[in-house]
Amino acid sequence: MSKASEKVTFNINKRTDFSEWYNTIVRQAELIDDRYNIKGLIVYRPYAMKMIGKIYDFFEERLESSGHEPVLLPLLIPEENLQKEAEHVGFKAETFWVTLGGDEQLAKKYALRPTSETAFYYMYSIWIRSISDLPVKLYQSVAVYRHETKATKPLIRGREFLWIEAHDVFATKEGAIEQVKEDERTMKEVLQDLLRIPVLFIRRPQWDKFKGAVDTFAADTIMPDGVTLQIASTHYLGQNFSKVFEITFDDKDGTHRHVEQTCFGPGISRILAAVISVHGDDSGLILPMSIAPIQIMIVPIPGEDVTDYARILKRTMLDMNYRAEVDEAEETPGSKFYRWEFLGVPIRMEIGPREASSSKVTIFDRLTKRKREIDLEDLRQFLKGFEEEQSKTLFQRAKTNGDEFLARASSVTDAKGKMSEGKRVFIVPFCSIDMDGETCGAVVEKELGLKVLGEELGREKPEQGQKCFACGKEARHLVYLAESY
Ligand SMILES: [Zn+2]
Repeated sequence: MSKASEKVTFNINKRTDFSEWYNTIVRQAELIDDRYNIKGLIVYRPYAMKMIGKIYDFFEERLESSGHEPVLLPLLIPEENLQKEAEHVGFKAETFWVTLGGDEQLAKKYALRPTSETAFYYMYSIWIRSISDLPVKLYQSVAVYRHETKATKPLIRGREFLWIEAHDVFATKEGAIEQVKEDERTMKEVLQDLLRIPVLFIRRPQWDKFKGAVDTFAADTIMPDGVTLQIASTHYLGQNFSKVFEITFDDKDGTHRHVEQTCFGPGISRILAAVISVHGDDSGLILPMSIAPIQIMIVPIPGEDVTDYARILKRTMLDMNYRAEVDEAEETPGSKFYRWEFLGVPIRMEIGPREASSSKVTIFDRLTKRKREIDLEDLRQFLKGFEEEQSKTLFQRAKTNGDEFLARASSVTDAKGKMSEGKRVFIVPFCSIDMDGETCGAVVEKELGLKVLGEELGREKPEQGQKCFACGKEARHLVYLAESY
């Protein structure tokens, strides 16, 4: 938190200068510090960690209520594990390796987990023997490490980031496919219903899926610059890993079979980046009530009986289960207003002698910047309504902002024209998201500088006779094109 003596000044146009807005806000609001002396590794500061704790809670509660249990696997993974699956070995290029123990060269080299399939599945081959061992549903909440060569951006692209990885095992393909659907529901509940981040649920093209997966499904959000950010994904792995790790079970009829698998990964660091980005405005952060470390900041305006009234009010708010604080610093109310507004506290309660003597509070709503005077006895009802109203408005506002970048395009030329008008995300008829569509994916990249995100789940198919917007062959999918982080 900023010291009382530091006056906060922040006024950056999010729409026109998103990159500067973002880079400034994450540092100035003391969410992260990137002055640590290893490039690409950041310090997560308390204000960010309190929100991250909430995001973890939301996912973990849902995972556990759907039968998952927590576990913790080692950070180090032997090289031989990573090499087992032919495509997954691609992670080696972005892996940090431990090769020394003290000054001695180790006999084997160990990866700092870039992701933990090959740690989990090594153990699964030991644990799983018969149908009665299935399903297995385990998750861990950890940091993973990638030796990023691209430019890093705090919380969005780093060499260490926080996530959850759930690794599930089933006897049948149906069980695994059902799990992918459950993961989608979990993503939807946390990202959209609680954090109010609008997302597109997308099936990735075969040339852009997770290394080792049969199919990848991702949640992408459109950031304020029109670039999409993948914030969670779930993968149907089929038997790709169970065959190389020999994860087998004896079925009821005595047959010996390979298991079916899925893995699910909400990117906690990136989800925080999305909360900051989609909700904030030109004067700072705007935090949803669900995640705000401080939901209500009570600011006393000096005068008779005010301090006591503020403390009683705080007690009342805590009793109603709100996260409330009183700012009693030696500082002008104006500077306090400015700071809590910048830090995105949803509600500010202003308490002066007038409010104290009449049992009222003046309420400032960070989102709409409206002020209202409320009688103490109506406060409970007001806050309940406020929470619903804030939640609804945040989502609609974020959705409208994202949708402004969205357009349909019928040809490459059409898309180019719309890009010059500010459109950044396109829905187009496309030949194929199987490998035979990859050449059209390359055209999209070369001509438009965009990538094929994939097909939205549940979206309509192209109309009869519609042609691929790039090659003119029959279109089998409507896909999203976008630049992505
Ligand atoms: Zn095509």
